[in-house]
Amino acid sequence: MIPFRNEPLTDFSLAENRKVLETAIAQVKCQLGQTYPLMIGEQAITTERTFASLNPCNHQEVIGFVSQGAAEHAELAMETAWKAFASWSSLPMQVRADYLFKLAATIRRRKAELTAWLILEVGKNWVEADADVAEAIDFCEYYARQALELSAGRTPTPLPGERNSFTYIPLGVGLAISPWNFPFAILVGMTTAAIVAGNTVIIKPANTAAVIGAKFHELLREIYLPAGVVTYLPGSGSEIGEYLVSHPRTRFVNFTGSMAVGLRINQQAAVTQPGQIWIKRVVAEMGGKDAIIVDESADLEAAAQGIVKSAFGFQGQKCSACSRAIVVDSIYDQVLARVVELTKQLAIGPAAENYAVGAVIDAAAFAKITSYIRECGHEGRLVLGGEYDDRQGYYIKPTIFADVRPDARLAQEEIFGPVLAFIRAANFDEALAIANNTIYGLTGSVYSLNRKHLEKAKAEFHVGNLYLNRHCTGALVGVHPFGGFNMSGTDSKAGGPDYVQLFMQAKSISEKL
Ligand code: NAP
Ligand code: MG
Repeated sequence: MIPFRNEPLTDFSLAENRKVLETAIAQVKCQLGQTYPLMIGEQAITTERTFASLNPCNHQEVIGFVSQGAAEHAELAMETAWKAFASWSSLPMQVRADYLFKLAATIRRRKAELTAWLILEVGKNWVEADADVAEAIDFCEYYARQALELSAGRTPTPLPGERNSFTYIPLGVGLAISPWNFPFAILVGMTTAAIVAGNTVIIKPANTAAVIGAKFHELLREIYLPAGVVTYLPGSGSEIGEYLVSHPRTRFVNFTGSMAVGLRINQQAAVTQPGQIWIKRVVAEMGGKDAIIVDESADLEAAAQGIVKSAFGFQGQKCSACSRAIVVDSIYDQVLARVVELTKQLAIGPAAENYAVGAVIDAAAFAKITSYIRECGHEGRLVLGGEYDDRQGYYIKPTIFADVRPDARLAQEEIFGPVLAFIRAANFDEALAIANNTIYGLTGSVYSLNRKHLEKAKAEFHVGNLYLNRHCTGALVGVHPFGGFNMSGTDSKAGGPDYVQLFMQAKSISEKL
């Protein structure tokens, strides 16, 4: 087998690549406004109640109407998934891995089309949307290989007179509850890792990105994945999501999303329901308040570029986004001025036209982010942005507040939008202390040429993904296994060497000879 390598990103400086995507966007535009049923086993169920998933850059445009699962569907889904588990879990690992390889190839073939759906449904620009699809391909390729390695099990210590083995078996039926911000990559990753291990999965994508979820299920049907292995069950998180989390037959929950929801899921899943015979396993990857530190020795141009890319890529709506720039006093004004200058160059407009900055995901996000700008504006000096307009799309100008105190709300709470707080530190040690002074611990980055500072950051910067002299977003599968500390989650390290095993349990067998 060819060793794993990351899917190359599309070079949109080439006219032929631009043409392919433009054509795909035009074709997808002709398919907008359809209704998507729940997919449970062989049944496609269109519900009376639907959710209209909108184009964030043009909220008059309905991407699709998504059926909304209710308790009765959850019961049917659970029954179907457990039935499918019996045969799916008994297949050789190689067969299940082959489904993932086939899925990767199928996604690769439909790459432009899937990129177009992402652009239109969540407002990613071309590069961001293309990277989302590439990451999904990576997850399939990577987890398939990992599963094949795991299928050998491990060799226990030999004991004369006994034949002993140690192997991994799947857990059962699990949930994949995914966010809207990497709606394809994360959903594909969370689902494929669990199914390749032999589990069956009910997916509950975020409503605001549920058409992408429907496309994922369509791909699974295209590769003839046995019905019932993956159930598509969109609906309201607080209704169907909670119902499924609390269900006595749910064996594990794989969640990626906000801290508030992750903590609630963790709590609900811990309550033993009547008839439940296991402790539910919860994997929860949650929010961040990620910082980039710059010291006086740094390449300041590289630092400024890294801050802008990390803070405003996909409108700051990445769990890894830089929302705090912590800069030492002697170069603070210089870095701030350059970041402002670079940010001013970011053009704002529809993702479909590949503007650098598009709209934020929906009306609720727009309201939340702009309320931070209004209510917390006094916590800093507004040096850029602060303006917003939701008449056509949910547009918020990249916003920078300077001189924010480390304990201000702007410096502590996840805003999840294009809002950056600049924080002044007396020196590197203080900068590091400020960086660590949050409940989160997802990504962080240090720009410095001082080896002592870099070594100190390696030892003390308490984040799951630490980057030195590069931006803090854009983790690559296999290269930068991804997951955070503290309130950023369970540190499951998606795209890392231990991920598939999270959805398995080990069995020891000992035979006396
Ligand atoms: P969210 O609001 O927490 O929603 C995530 C998912 O949970 C959605 O499918 C949502 O359904 C569902 N949900 C909501 N309430 C629920 C409940 N009570 N029980 C069960 N499920 C429930 O997060 P989001 O707004 O989609 O995504 C942004 C957040 O994700 C940010 O905080 C970001 O930092 C985090 N994130 C973390 C990572 C990571 O790897 N650490 C990666 C990406 C994103 P609805 O569609 O109904 O809301
Ligand atoms: Mg949400």
